[in-house]
Parts: sequence; C-alpha cells; structure tokens
Amino acid sequence: MSDAVGDCPATRCLEAALVSNRLAHAYLLVGRDEGAKLALAAALAKAGNCRGDHGPGEFCDTCPSCRQVDAGGSANIRIFGDSAILRIDTVDQFISYASVKTASGCLKLSVFRGVDFFTDVAADRVLKTIEEPVSGNVFLLLSQNSRRVLPTIRSRVQIMKVERSTQEAADLQDATSATGEDACLEVLLEFAKANVSLSETVGRLLRMSSQNSLRDNATAGLQTIALFMNSVLRARGKVSPLAGISLSTEPELARVNFVLDESRVGLFLDHLGERLKHIEQNVNPELVLTNVLLELRRMTTHE
Ligand SMILES: [Zn+2]
Repeated sequence: MSDAVGDCPATRCLEAALVSNRLAHAYLLVGRDEGAKLALAAALAKAGNCRGDHGPGEFCDTCPSCRQVDAGGSANIRIFGDSAILRIDTVDQFISYASVKTASGCLKLSVFRGVDFFTDVAADRVLKTIEEPVSGNVFLLLSQNSRRVLPTIRSRVQIMKVERSTQEAADLQDATSATGEDACLEVLLEFAKANVSLSETVGRLLRMSSQNSLRDNATAGLQTIALFMNSVLRARGKVSPLAGISLSTEPELARVNFVLDESRVGLFLDHLGERLKHIEQNVNPELVLTNVLLELRRMTTHE
C-alpha cells in the first residue's frame, strides 16, 4: 500500500491492521491533502479485495477488482460528500449504502468527505450507522482539520493523520498552493466590498484554478465561495478558529459588511450544494457562478 500512496504512519497502520484482520470499524483520516486521503482509501479497497497473486497487504492493480476501484465502479468502495459542503441527501445516500451487505470475504469501504461540516443531526445519524456496522463494512471519515469535527464523532473513531512525504507535498504545492486559495478569497473579498464588478469576478474565478475545463474551474469557484463564507464566519468568531491555516485575508474578512443571519447563511450554503449539482449536469457554469455571486452580494451591505 505504501508504494501506492507513500509511506506515512496511517498507511503502515492500516496495512498492518488489514494483514492481521484487525481493522477498526471506523477511522477519521485527517489532513489538508484531500488527494492523499482518497488515494489511501482506494489503496485499502484494493488491498482488501485484490484477487491477484502477491504478499499480504499488497495488491496487483491489474485484476478485475483492482481495476474496478480505479474506474470508480467497484461495489466495495463508495465515496460520498465533498470537502467543502455538507448536503443532507448525501447523509441519506451514505446510510443506505452502508446498510448493504458485502459478499463474504470482501472489504467494503464507505468513505465520507467533509466531516468537518457535520451538523449535530447529521452526526447523530451517521454515528448510529457506524456503531451498528454490517459485517465487512469499514467507515472512513475524511476531515481537513480534526478540531472542526464534532467531539461525538471524534470519540467514536480511530483518528489518523494522513500526509504525503515532504517531497511529494512540495511537488503538489505548486499545483494547488495555499497562495492560490488566498488569491481566490482575495477576489471574493474585493467583490463583497463592491470594488470589482460581477462579470470581472466571474471571469477571474473561471480563470483562477489550474484545472483544464470550464466546468472544473466553476466547481472550484463554488468551493472557494463556500470556503469564503466559512472564513467570514470564522473571522467573526461564529466558528472556532481553524488551526493550521492562516489566510492572509482573514482580518479583512472580519470587516466585510455581511448580513449574518445564521439561517440565511445556512440557506446560502444549501443552495451552493444545488448549484454544484447543476454544474455537474453541465448547466452553463458561467451562469451558475453569476447567480451564486448575486446571492452573495445580496447578503452584503454597503454604507
Ligand atoms: Zn488486484
């Protein structure tokens, strides 16, 4: 497994647990590198179900089972949610998948991203599922920052930090750097302060990320808007401070004139989930972004 995802304590630990048939029923994988956590989940699904000929804890990458994991069509692993948003229907889908029995001898992974955004209600429902697992089921909950995960969840799972080796992380940093994230927030901040026009902001968001397609860029843009809203709330002290991230825009965000009605913000974030769906369905990404930004502007006041 470590060949596939790099050698980190979480990889070694999961591999050892798999080999000795002592996997815990649920893990919280924590780290800012979403790709590393997903790669580890895929490697575990392969190693747990590979039909190839190799040593314990390894996988062949060529058998039908391994290839299905790579193609996203394996019945033994499903990934739910998003790293920036929680949608209620995702919780329903996760619970219904988790209740399906596995074929004997199979390892089935239910992966949930964005556990940082669980509400009490969502956490209760997920915990109920986790605590009465169907045999062969293992749950992987993914978090960017364990301090943002509700204590009820933290106390019931095995927590592991996932990070790539320093060199791998440095290579990735070029592609998706924290500076890029800051730059996106900066654009939104200027928009919220009414210093930049709507069309200019849409244009910037669509060019900002290093993705190739307009659709992917628009998705990244929406995720940045979700991050932006969270950062504003955090800067206002409505959400506990985020360790390990220092956004240069944070002090500025505290001064944006938002109408911070909690219910309104919640509704806005729910809408974002809907909009992400639209983008996936290929509705004009530029139009989707424009509408979301208009909504954002309606929440700001200017003296
Ligand atoms: Zn295989």
